[in-house]
Amino acid sequence: MQVHIQKCQNCSSTNLRNIIARDDAQRVFVQCQDCGHFVARYVLAPGGYFHEGRDYESFLRTRMLDRGYSSGRDLKSLYKEVSESAKEGFEETLKRTKEKYGDELP
Ligand SMILES: [Zn+2]
Repeated sequence: MQVHIQKCQNCSSTNLRNIIARDDAQRVFVQCQDCGHFVARYVLAPGGYFHEGRDYESFLRTRMLDRGYSSGRDLKSLYKEVSESAKEGFEETLKRTKEKYGDELP
């Protein structure tokens, strides 16, 4: 796993704002909070969004908005699977980030 802490190309700030936009697809626009510059855009794969701390009902609502929603699957176990995998991915990413940057995070 390679890790990279995103910075503004214009002013090098890491004070960034994620704006989630939903229409036919889910997109995340990243804006610098210090200079207002457009930093990046991510297009999420169907079912690719996970938001920590939200409940199962909220998970289901987002799934319904996704075209990747599949009614045949056991959504309760999918919820558990996605939730655990997202948390594990976050822990692993933090570990790699600490290895790369040490205690001096940009
Ligand atoms: Zn900036």
